[in-house]
Order: sequence, then C-alpha cells, then structure tokens
Amino acid sequence: MKSINLDITHRCTLECSRCERIRWTARGEKVPGEDMELYAYLKILNYFDHINFCGNRADPVFNPNFIQFLAINKKRNKSCEIHNAATGKNLAWYQRAFKANTDAVWHFGIDGLPEKILALMDYLKRVIYIERIKRASSYMKQCYCVRRWV
Ligand code: SF4
Repeated sequence: MKSINLDITHRCTLECSRCERIRWTARGEKVPGEDMELYAYLKILNYFDHINFCGNRADPVFNPNFIQFLAINKKRNKSCEIHNAATGKNLAWYQRAFKANTDAVWHFGIDGLPEKILALMDYLKRVIYIERIKRASSYMKQCYCVRRWV
C-alpha cells in the first residue's frame, strides 16, 4: 500500500511551544503555505492508497476543502487518518466531517505537558473535546484520543 503524509493548509489556532510554526510566528510573520486545492488533491489520489492528514505546521481541519477530501476518499475507497489537535471547529462541523467518511481514522490530540494537561484546558474546552470524541465514536469504526506535548 502506498501512503503519503499531507500538510494541506498553513493554519492552526494553537501555539504549541515547540511547533515549527514558532519559527515564523515569533517574528510576527505569516506561516508560509496555502490550502491545498481540490485539483491537487485529486492528482495525489491517483498515486496513493492511504492519506495521512498530519500537519507539520498546521492542523488539517482548517483546509476549507477538507470535508470534501474526506468524502472523495470514501467514494474512491482510499483509507485515511486525521490528526487533529487544534480547536476552532464546532461540533456541527465535526458531525459533517464524520458523516462524510465513516471509515476515516481520527486521532484527537490533547496538547500539553502530562502533569499540566487538565490545568491547561478550561472546563468548556474539556466538554467540547469529550463531546467531539463521543460523536466520533458513534459514527466511526476507529477513533483515538492521544496525549502529546509539542
Ligand atoms: S496543533 Fe500542531 S500545528 Fe498547531 S501549533 Fe500545535 S504542533 Fe503546531
């Protein structure tokens, strides 16, 4: 199986201290990159069977075409994994994304140092994470909650 990791946008709402984004944001500069367009994504799908949406300097959920990408993967029987840590999308958006491709595998990252993780997340944010994970598990075959500290 041929697989590829794609960074499909340049956006993220978080500011993880060791993220590659800091190189630019610390200087007040725009993080380079752009949203991958549909035509480019379709070309890539001609060559790969598995797509890993794991940004190195962005979170894939912020590409405006992302739900469409998921739906195309489902239609063309291409497997995919999504690594999502950033907040900013509401639950209705997640519901649309989960429905677009019920075979996709989601990894939800909860960022922060292990001993500080709950202190870092206010009550509302925790509720949103838990609700997002509950909804994902009601649609998806596989969904993971991962802790990471970047
Ligand atoms: S969630 Fe990912 S892309 Fe966003 S700031 Fe953290 S490490 Fe960087």
